[in-house]
Amino acid sequence: MTSPQSAPGDELVFLPLGGSNEIGMNFNLYGYGPAHSRKWIVVDLGVTFGDQTTPGVEIILPDPEFIADYAKDILGIVLTHAHEDHIGAVAWLWPQLRAPLYATPFTAFLLREKLREADLLDEAPITEIPLSGSFRLGPFELNLLTLTHSIPEPNGVAIRTPLGTVLHTGDWKIDPDPLTGPVTDVDAIRRLGDEGVLAMVCDSTNVFVDGEAGSEAHVRETLTPLIAGLQGGVAAACFASNVARMDTIIRAAEAAGRRVCLVGRSMIRMSQAARSVGLLEGVGPFLDDVRAKDVPKERLLYLCTGSQGEPRAALARIADGSHPHVKLGKGDAAIFSSRVIPGNEIPIRNLQNKLADLGVRLYTERDHPGIHVSGHPCRDELKRMYQWARPEIAVPTHGERRHLLEHVALARDLQVSQAIAPRNGDMVRLAPGQAEIIDEVPAGRLFVDAGFVTPEHGEALRERRHAAFNGMLAVSLALDGRNRLASGPQVRAIGLPADEDYTLEEATDDLAEAAKDAVLKLSGDDRDDDAAVEAAISRALKKAAFRIWKRRPVVEATVLRV
Ligand SMILES: [Zn+2]
Ligand SMILES: [Zn+2]
Repeated sequence: MTSPQSAPGDELVFLPLGGSNEIGMNFNLYGYGPAHSRKWIVVDLGVTFGDQTTPGVEIILPDPEFIADYAKDILGIVLTHAHEDHIGAVAWLWPQLRAPLYATPFTAFLLREKLREADLLDEAPITEIPLSGSFRLGPFELNLLTLTHSIPEPNGVAIRTPLGTVLHTGDWKIDPDPLTGPVTDVDAIRRLGDEGVLAMVCDSTNVFVDGEAGSEAHVRETLTPLIAGLQGGVAAACFASNVARMDTIIRAAEAAGRRVCLVGRSMIRMSQAARSVGLLEGVGPFLDDVRAKDVPKERLLYLCTGSQGEPRAALARIADGSHPHVKLGKGDAAIFSSRVIPGNEIPIRNLQNKLADLGVRLYTERDHPGIHVSGHPCRDELKRMYQWARPEIAVPTHGERRHLLEHVALARDLQVSQAIAPRNGDMVRLAPGQAEIIDEVPAGRLFVDAGFVTPEHGEALRERRHAAFNGMLAVSLALDGRNRLASGPQVRAIGLPADEDYTLEEATDDLAEAAKDAVLKLSGDDRDDDAAVEAAISRALKKAAFRIWKRRPVVEATVLRV
């Protein structure tokens, strides 16, 4: 391959549109060329998940508005690994970007599943790149670097351009014994460092954690005797994508004379993806939950989804007794081989309380250290990566503000000459000249709300949240041809409290009275106008509701003409 030369006016820019205000929703852009005609590549296109603050919203996407305008200049979308925070938005946003997709085989397998479900498989071209493979997209020469993480085939990407090389790490840690797949390709990273790394865009998840993340092999040493010692039924939950962990739990179960039953759709899908690339060899076959009913439960291990307390996942359904085939009770055990993702504390606690109430003994990372390790680099690992790659510029990503700024401080301590922490939407010029933020472009989040993609600050969620906290009043009345009250107002209070001293009936009577007064106060002309009548009623009811409840419910007023 002949490397193109840089031309006067060329710039190399990095632009995060997701992942640089949060751990998740990764969406990184690299641009090359003069400002008016940049060519772009996308690295990762992930989602994040809703929580209690976004009722009804499970999936949150990065807003592609800025780059969708330049869709024809996107040369490719490179996916570092198959975690949802890196590939989860592809099926949602690809129709706006329409660029070819590049991924290694395991990631490509799961990507195809997503595209098939979204009916995009025939349109969206996926090129499978082998581990350590290279390919060129216009001025970008890309080379995958094998790393270790908590999923098969985690890749860093070396992005060579005429103005310098960027090492985009993706998610990684240094696992000396990852159990599935190769170890970190330290030689390749060192060679890249020898060649010269202009900038390293690097995982910040565990920047506050000293030491090292720990190895999957250590988890195996902990889980194997633990599972061997259990009586009764055993459910184990882990992230389905952590195939090494699945492999460990399965082998531990089989060694203890238990058959493994996979419970939960993503567990089954991940096992298929793993088998497609030669992983999970020599174990199984697995039982499904229907066939497992014929096996006594002390001869079984249920490998379940739902370690984060997801309400519809296998473990939640087992805990509330609604799973059709799997029941746990006194004398059984549940192992959480996972961590608590921030934001999921409450659902996980509820799930664990329900299991405990059933008499199920719990094993979690907190009371049984070693049954889980993180997939992200702690400080000692970050230091080693900086020593290998020796970048001129550190650009932290995959973190909240506090992670990114701590990572900047760490890089400075490690004598990296420049460190810069852009927010989503900050365009960083990496070369030529000093790294600096040269532009700010629209960046935000989109909410998938009941299947509809809506703006973050959209009306539907705002109103729903408002109603959830404040309740709702529905009022209707009928006006006749001469604008006189023909019936009503009738008021219904939804989600608003009352007691014996002041009943809901009394409250709605008072509210109806307030609505009636508001109508009677209107002039004849105003009464001709439905919107004016409804607005007057809304105002009056809000005032009256505030007197009663010190709250401002959502008011829905309807005027009928008879
Ligand atoms: Zn990630
Ligand atoms: Zn990841």
